[in-house]
Amino acid sequence: TVSIALFTQDLRLHDNPALHAACTAGKDVVPLFVLDPAVASAGFATPNRSAFLADCLADLDRSLRRIGGRLIVRAGTVADEVMRVAAETGADSVHVAAGVSRFARRREARLRQRLGPRLTVHDGSLTAVPAGWITPAGKDHYAVFTPYFRAWAQAERGTPLPAPRRLSTPPSLTSAALPTARPASPRLPEGGESAGRTRWRRWSPDAYHELHDDLAADATSRLSPYLHFGCLSARELVDAATRHSGPGAEAFIRQLAWRDFHHQVLAARPAAAHADYRTRADQWHIDEEEAQAWREGRTGFPIIDAGMRQLATEGWMHNRARLLTASFLTKSLYHDWRIGAAHFLTLLVDGDIANNQLNWQWVAGTGTDTRPNRVLNPLLQADRYDPHGDYVRRWVPELAHIAGRSVHRPWLLSDRPAYPAPLIEPGALSGRIRHGRNLNGR
Ligand code: FAD
Repeated sequence: TVSIALFTQDLRLHDNPALHAACTAGKDVVPLFVLDPAVASAGFATPNRSAFLADCLADLDRSLRRIGGRLIVRAGTVADEVMRVAAETGADSVHVAAGVSRFARRREARLRQRLGPRLTVHDGSLTAVPAGWITPAGKDHYAVFTPYFRAWAQAERGTPLPAPRRLSTPPSLTSAALPTARPASPRLPEGGESAGRTRWRRWSPDAYHELHDDLAADATSRLSPYLHFGCLSARELVDAATRHSGPGAEAFIRQLAWRDFHHQVLAARPAAAHADYRTRADQWHIDEEEAQAWREGRTGFPIIDAGMRQLATEGWMHNRARLLTASFLTKSLYHDWRIGAAHFLTLLVDGDIANNQLNWQWVAGTGTDTRPNRVLNPLLQADRYDPHGDYVRRWVPELAHIAGRSVHRPWLLSDRPAYPAPLIEPGALSGRIRHGRNLNGR
């Protein structure tokens, strides 16, 4: 018997329910990845994520070869390619991980149409607690994080599955060449399960509760791209952190629960990827020049510009900087969150429909934040989370010579550096949205 393990956002051998089931079901296993042009036309195959994906697939192939198999890569529509490989090998079962995005759901539906009962969709790959497993009475998802987290912490996750030890892939099968891609950001991390596990092993959550918001300390795990591509299993991370225990591990687990939270919102409300989750009455301000200054890190607010430049260089941004740059765009400049979310998705190597769109909505006040009008004042936040100005000096070279926290307010310096003037009055940073003003008439 032959089984197909169709890889999607689960590019790993450890704790991979679909691969595990394929190995249990069949004598031969076809580990298959399909390069579907629909992913590119949906705007998802950006240079940064394509480069990371290329690393992931090369690593997966190497790991599979070590245990006697290999990765079969095909290019085309997923359902067509799966049917083709099934016909070539006589495969009688196909295993795939459950997804939450509209794209993943459609893929599942098409596969189900063509394969019928030969298809098994496996929960437990994408998140530690699968979307839909816990729900409040009478509702299909949690809209508020705190009660979600309470239920999440009690939920049955199951035990992480071991990586297969041996696997044989039919020798006659042909594979397309592994893809290659050039990243847009010069300092992109290396993709793949091996690199992800190495990073995870080297990182300790011990000081996480104290340092995770400290921009210059850069003390977060940076595991997000590995989680996004499924090089690491969220369930395995949660299990290990639970065993590790301590306040750092607890704070880390809470962030992983935020990831699950957004996934269960998107699973229940796929439209929230583009439409406001909660509707709002007033209109966004439209000013393309302002938006472009934000994208390019030329707003004149050093903490904002530092974040945007980190994004351009690393394809990644610190969570606190994501919060500040998103709040600045949506609440201080009053631009539509979709403009910011689209720019983030273009560059983020961990760019993820559930986490990106729903975090943007959270910040913009259109999403699940229970205090939708809160405004993060970038100056006060800079004083708090970059108290010595080191993060700004690292990312904004024009200001690297300015000592201490005065780097956050260059407009107050007597010797003004060659740096853009603030895009809006510093005094107006937090007041606007609270008064519900429509800035189109500004
Ligand atoms: P750590 O602090 O080490 O956290 C561990 C893991 O928990 C992360 O890898 C991530 O998977 C998860 N996590 C942490 N914070 C959050 C959060 N607020 N929401 C959901 N999951 C979280 N994360 C993405 O993975 N992809 C995105 O596209 C994305 N876009 C964002 C956009 C905005 C506007 C904001 C405010 C946040 C966004 N995040 C996104 C969440 C968060 O910023 C990143 O997950 C985090 O910065 C990744 O760094 P890390 O791996 O070092 O995180």
